[in-house]
Amino acid sequence: MKKLIISIFIISFFVLSFFCGNNDENLNASGKDSTKNAKEDIGKISEERNIPAGLKKLFLAYPDYIDSVDENHLYWKDGTKMIYDDGRQKTFEDRLNDPDLEDMMWQEYTAGKEYEIPEKDFDPGRIRFEPFFLKIYGSSASEVRGNLTTIQWMPKSTKSKVSVMKLNDVDLQLKAVSDELDKLPENLKKYVTKTAGTFYWRKIAGTNRLSTHSFGIAIDINTDYSDYWLWDKKMKYKNRIPLEIVEIFERYGFIWGGKWYHYDTMHFEYRPELLVSPD
Ligand SMILES: [Zn+2]
Repeated sequence: MKKLIISIFIISFFVLSFFCGNNDENLNASGKDSTKNAKEDIGKISEERNIPAGLKKLFLAYPDYIDSVDENHLYWKDGTKMIYDDGRQKTFEDRLNDPDLEDMMWQEYTAGKEYEIPEKDFDPGRIRFEPFFLKIYGSSASEVRGNLTTIQWMPKSTKSKVSVMKLNDVDLQLKAVSDELDKLPENLKKYVTKTAGTFYWRKIAGTNRLSTHSFGIAIDINTDYSDYWLWDKKMKYKNRIPLEIVEIFERYGFIWGGKWYHYDTMHFEYRPELLVSPD
């Protein structure tokens, strides 16, 4: 009898792990069916070739735009291609100011409530290869503006609207975030009912780099509870945003600036490539 119980226990464990494993397979920030096909494709490709994990992640996260990848290239559906690794040795500042796709995928973003206080210059997602975003979302302010749509922000709790990118389903993902935030208890809502901007075509202060707000794929939440490295002379990491909120954004493909050494805790941006698993 004892043996039978133990056997049932072991079998249940394996059955459960199998189903949980399958859920992980669907760990796709964008939640699109096409990613499943992309995963099968990349499985085939990587069996024979040595494809960098970062390149695989890009391929999996943007199935509507990327046709295929090889060892060092990304091929867009419009027939153009981009080099992944330009092969140059770079300092952190070089990577930030003159990155390639490899630099963009260099630091790994950790999803979830558990994360380390970022070490010096650990800014996963803050290095961005601009041509990548210009290609998907629009190459000028007016082109991006033409690709924006408006959504009701937390309709059960506010009357406000936000403007957001409609390409790549960013609007649907943000709407899903908004619906979940709307269900939060009142004490958590104060961090998010008031927002501080989505689309704004601009260079990041003091740099030559476009902010992701330029593409309508970023949102800043309530600045009353936010901390930003440039506001802080000592630049000592701090955060007042509850991680429950961060997890909701991450579930739909948005990374959080609160996990950067150059912390920006009001800031979320749609970067599914940093949240997708390459395996
Ligand atoms: Zn921001």
